[in-house]
Amino acid sequence: MNCKKISDFFGCDVFGRDQMRQYLPRDVFESVISAIDDNRRIDRRVADQVAAGMKAWAMDRGATHYTHWFQPLNDSTAEKHDTFFEPVWGGGAVETFSGDLLVQQEPDASSFPTGGLRNTFEARGYSAWDPSSPTFLIDDTLCIPSVFISYTGEALDFKTPLLRSMAALDKAAVEVCQLFDKDVVKVVPTLGWEQEYFLLDEALYKARPDLVQTGRTLMGHTAAKDQQLDDHYWGEIPDRVVGFMKDVEERCFRLGIPLKTRHNETAPNQYECAPMFEEANIAVDHNTLLMTIMRRIALRHGLHVLFHEKPFAGVNGSGKHINWSLATSTGQNLLAPGKTPKSNMQFLSFFVCALRAAAKHGNMIMASVATEGNSHRLGGSEAPPAIFSVFTGCTLSAVLDEIEQRVSKKALTPDEKTGIKLDIGKIPEILLDNTDRNRTSPFAFTGNRFEFRALGASANCAMPLIVLNTAMAEQLTAFAGEVEELVSAGAKKDDAILQTIRGFILESRKIRFEGNGYSAEWHAEAKIRGLKAMTKVTTAIKEYIEPHNVQLFKEFRVFSEAELKARYEIKCETYLKKVQIEARVLGDLALNHIIPTAIRYQNILIDNVKGIKELFHADGNEMARAEMNTIRTIADHVKAIRGLVHDMVEIRKEWNVMESVSDRAEGYEHEVAPFLPQIRDHIDHLEMIVDDQLWLMPKYRELFTM
Ligand code: ADP
Ligand code: MG
Repeated sequence: MNCKKISDFFGCDVFGRDQMRQYLPRDVFESVISAIDDNRRIDRRVADQVAAGMKAWAMDRGATHYTHWFQPLNDSTAEKHDTFFEPVWGGGAVETFSGDLLVQQEPDASSFPTGGLRNTFEARGYSAWDPSSPTFLIDDTLCIPSVFISYTGEALDFKTPLLRSMAALDKAAVEVCQLFDKDVVKVVPTLGWEQEYFLLDEALYKARPDLVQTGRTLMGHTAAKDQQLDDHYWGEIPDRVVGFMKDVEERCFRLGIPLKTRHNETAPNQYECAPMFEEANIAVDHNTLLMTIMRRIALRHGLHVLFHEKPFAGVNGSGKHINWSLATSTGQNLLAPGKTPKSNMQFLSFFVCALRAAAKHGNMIMASVATEGNSHRLGGSEAPPAIFSVFTGCTLSAVLDEIEQRVSKKALTPDEKTGIKLDIGKIPEILLDNTDRNRTSPFAFTGNRFEFRALGASANCAMPLIVLNTAMAEQLTAFAGEVEELVSAGAKKDDAILQTIRGFILESRKIRFEGNGYSAEWHAEAKIRGLKAMTKVTTAIKEYIEPHNVQLFKEFRVFSEAELKARYEIKCETYLKKVQIEARVLGDLALNHIIPTAIRYQNILIDNVKGIKELFHADGNEMARAEMNTIRTIADHVKAIRGLVHDMVEIRKEWNVMESVSDRAEGYEHEVAPFLPQIRDHIDHLEMIVDDQLWLMPKYRELFTM
């Protein structure tokens, strides 16, 4: 790779536009491209020819298999490989791949999460080709990005609703763009993610059953030195890690994933990478693909990659920032201020729609990232608080306030107009203001995009995007409607737009917050504003079935009520299973690793005390006092651990028999999960007492090495 330019091999494993041009007849190529651009279906004849071209391209590169590649509702990807090869009756064989096989595959999908949408006895789900995300090659397999739907048409994946939300957003955004620029015919959301992760030595990782089984450490005393000196962030990247990163990057570049940055993150052994932003659907595919690639390549370097949101207590966890904006077919970024007053008015229109979407659906946005793993990170003064708010930066905030004050309900006087023009003229300065980065805000405007920082590192990016796109579609539709109403009542278009902007500013006041999101004052202030802290997972995810959210997603045809209910159930079930697994793992380790080790050490001390007393008789009592106290302390911790593990098992039994999955999940969150840190606390104390030679599991200070 060293002697090659990246641009020489970028995208060489993708059946992209260049490859299509080469392998498809011209008319087929053109109809595929226009179908993608206009969100149209690709007809059967064309699909047959695309399949033939894809097969030829893939086989030229040594492929023998193909698979529909999709994202079921479990934060990973699914693939079932079939060969092109087919034996011919009477001898010999051929390689075939038809349009039918390209367009649709029927995996026996009974083991994917469905939230009751599909009983296993009617286990047919099918995957269908998404032509808007290019097909790619991994090793010997042609991977076809696909949606995954039940036989009755309900979405069982992330991509289907994402595409639906993009269609809704496109329609609404084009309508608003038309107020300013008749040339815009299509609007797509853009996504630039930033992926944080930890790397551990594979052997040390394997020596920690809690990490292997749950993705995080359930015990472990903090290391004397971890991140307090801030000496890791942007520090020198260890050679071994650079080797891993280079291999990941090469694979990503071949697959057309435009990685741009790599660096050390705050915690020991923590790193981050980020690409150039792309159209949201492709960026989501690329992020899931990246995670797969990283897992695989890490193993080749004797490393293990952790995407868990909080693998280690006491040091920062890992998130995934979602940089979100809207791009037009004419190449404009709709959330970037422009050079002319007109383009700034357009910017403001989109900006206030985003604010009002956030004000109205902030809780749903937070619900979209509520998971068991993320609950250990959010609100922990290292990640955004669990209260949703928007940071706009002081310049823009001042402009919004000015508009709010100056614009009146009546037609504007020439003076008012001049004032507003001056304000709007200031907007480009916000690009400079962009250095004023408020790191404590969950949803920050960073000059030409919003950055949503509450997603967990292991999650699929799609869900918060689905919510943002849909909420934005709703506001844009309302915006266009209000402008039209004012115009038909006789207002001038400019006045109508300004008045609508003002209304939207007023209605999104409560969500704007420029201060420190970690502070106690903000929590108090948020309460007064009626903003909820979404600290409990099972409370947050109830948003999925709140009537106003059901209404929103139904109206924009993103989710049916049944689909939302299914997702809610999957979220409950996943949450409770994760806590259940953690509780089992911790219980087992406490009883059969920790307590036996503690007792072994205690016995050494007992022998020691006995020996001292035997040798020193009357003096011995005083001499052995410290060890006798330690023996007692160990006994106290052991007793406490046994008691807590017993009680935790009993509580689990009670909740396990509850009929409703949401009751079970709530029981696990409120009554089972709190046992984990309590048990851990005793174990971590023992770790500090027991002979290091006897302690079975690698300690934090050992894990934090490279
Ligand atoms: P920081 O760590 O300071 O937030 P990074 O440079 O790591 O910044 O990440 C910025 C991210 O924002 C990148 O993924 C980049 O592609 C993305 N980004 C920039 N412009 C846009 C845009 N218009 N739409 C979506 N994402 C964007
Ligand atoms: Mg960022």
